Amino acid sequence: MPPSHITTEDFKVKLVTHARRVNITLKVSPTGVSLHIPPKLPMDIVHTLIEEKTDWIKQQLAKQPSPAPERQWLQGETLLLFGQAFTLQLQQKSDSPKVKLSGSDNTITLSGRLHRISEKTRRKTIIDWYKEQAERYLNKRTEELSQLTGLTPKSTTIKTYKARWGSCDKRGHIQYNWQIMQAPPSVIDYLIIHELCHLKHHNHGKGFWRLVTTFSPEYQREQDWLKQHGATLQL
Ligand SMILES: [Zn+2]
Repeated sequence: MPPSHITTEDFKVKLVTHARRVNITLKVSPTGVSLHIPPKLPMDIVHTLIEEKTDWIKQQLAKQPSPAPERQWLQGETLLLFGQAFTLQLQQKSDSPKVKLSGSDNTITLSGRLHRISEKTRRKTIIDWYKEQAERYLNKRTEELSQLTGLTPKSTTIKTYKARWGSCDKRGHIQYNWQIMQAPPSVIDYLIIHELCHLKHHNHGKGFWRLVTTFSPEYQREQDWLKQHGATLQL
């Protein structure tokens, strides 16, 4: 039986054999490197191929987003807002948990009876605060971009999604993932424009992308940012 993995000096390659496969595909994803091969492919060919592709694999691995750091919502942790890093401060106070942003020293302060606040409550309080920011900012910005594009949604709603930034249904209702508030303003604008353009094109066809390009000529740069950092924006 052939080995299921090949380990080199720099990385590990998972070998996946497909019964009816005739060609060879090399894939690099945040979960690792895999080589999809036809059955009975001689192992020396596999080794040569990996050797030849080593530089490319290393480059691709370097481009993969790093997994989000484990959060405990404690003093000194970094939070993102509009693409900028803020330091989380905890402040003892005798009232209910509150969050305050300070742009002058780039801090986000969570105050309250700290000894009684669990990690779960710290997380929920900060996430609720993000949702409020999203509610205010995304609604206002959608209005502004609606005027610019002439595309007006029936409504906009803030939601929590695991694997998407927004959506636009056929009736013209737009939903945004509040987690986009961590991205730079230009990326947020791209998301809004993307969803507004779906009011005209309910697909990702050529016409859709042409319209997106009209209002967001550099949209590929914003897409790259999301691809690179998206995984770290899960709170
Ligand atoms: Zn879309």
